[in-house]
Amino acid sequence: MIGLMKESGYEQTARPEEADILAINTCCFIQPATEESLDRIVEYARYKKENCRLLVVLGCLPQRYGRQLLDLLPEVDLWLGTGGYSRLPELIGAALARDRENGKRPGLFTVEKPGWLPEPGLARVLSTAPYTAYVKIAEGCENHCRYCVIPRIRGPYRSRPPEEIEQEVRELVDSGVKEINLVAQDTTAYGVDREGCSALPQLLSRLDRIEGDFWLRVLYAYPDRVSDELLAVFYGSEHLCAYLDLPLQHISGKILKAMGRHSTPEGILRLLERIRQLVPGMALRTTFILGYPGETEEDFDGLLSFLDVARFDWVGAFPYFPEEGTPAAVLKPQIPPAVRERRRQELLAKQEAITAEKNRALCGKHLKVLVEKNTADGWVGRSYREAPEIDGLVRLAPVNLPARTRVARTRAINPGDFLTVEVTGAETYEVYARLPAVMPP
Ligand code: SF4
Repeated sequence: MIGLMKESGYEQTARPEEADILAINTCCFIQPATEESLDRIVEYARYKKENCRLLVVLGCLPQRYGRQLLDLLPEVDLWLGTGGYSRLPELIGAALARDRENGKRPGLFTVEKPGWLPEPGLARVLSTAPYTAYVKIAEGCENHCRYCVIPRIRGPYRSRPPEEIEQEVRELVDSGVKEINLVAQDTTAYGVDREGCSALPQLLSRLDRIEGDFWLRVLYAYPDRVSDELLAVFYGSEHLCAYLDLPLQHISGKILKAMGRHSTPEGILRLLERIRQLVPGMALRTTFILGYPGETEEDFDGLLSFLDVARFDWVGAFPYFPEEGTPAAVLKPQIPPAVRERRRQELLAKQEAITAEKNRALCGKHLKVLVEKNTADGWVGRSYREAPEIDGLVRLAPVNLPARTRVARTRAINPGDFLTVEVTGAETYEVYARLPAVMPP
């Protein structure tokens, strides 16, 4: 969207008080995300009293909730759903030319069928740090998990052509990006709409052939489509991080079925075994939903025991939210919110000990680290085991050198550098490592 606006002659500013147009891209897949989106709109609406001429709200919120938002938030001048991002400059032009008679006329509302894909050849403007980028390989979802509104908001699954993705990755790598995070609502379904079967292994092999010093990371893999062919690509790859984000949601067969997931407990256990056989040392992340309708204490105990068997590196946990319009919201019995939250906390507490143990087991080993930033406690970075924003980090301490040399070494480091370091210790979410005695040229 920023690329589109820049191509249309607009300038970007990071200071809202300077902006003529404020655009808020929204999320609403669960209740807290909806609340955050609404709070943010109200927060930015105050700039309308200053010099802002147009308040624009885009994305999932208008796509999901429709025209009822017009009365709720009359300050908004333009609403745009997930289907029409490409029309943003054109609609902003129309909204600027329109007289709202001091807010008496409702904002311009454009929600189309969700079918949008990133434009081929459009210049990317990174909103992340310059050394890391997310690249969308597909949009939409057809898994229809019973608790989830995303298929309704983002539409049917559609993959981007591989040559377009390759071109985007090449351009990012050429511009100095060191970490490419491949995302979609379901990355393992990549190609199903175009070729009838998953083409993720072929896409990854293709991207792996791009020259340069960079990492590729795959997020949001649906467990059932993690094939031996896909795992073989990880094993033989130069750029692909041995890291897989595998949202499982639960391990009880009864709950998985009630969720409309395709996985079975036996299939999940077999998959974990296959991953560890075929890609030894692969870091695994998963997420679980706690307190899904019908989840008993016994189901929850089964999930806790599964943590000991699966031994994930990282686990995320959400309490279940009954989302309006989903089949799960009317299932009985619903679990009280306090119980959902208690189970989430218990699960995270149990996993903490496992994550800490796995981190401590790295002591003495060497890791390649992508340096991120200098904090009051020194430089921090991430290894192949940590995805941006969601997992832990690696804290770098200078080697035991005379103070002057140490300062010189530390000054030679920049965000986006790759360094090989030696792990010296760990806490739950942090690994401590020593900087190399000799800095690479
Ligand atoms: S796979 Fe993910 S996005 Fe798709 S329906 Fe299930 S939870 Fe929602």
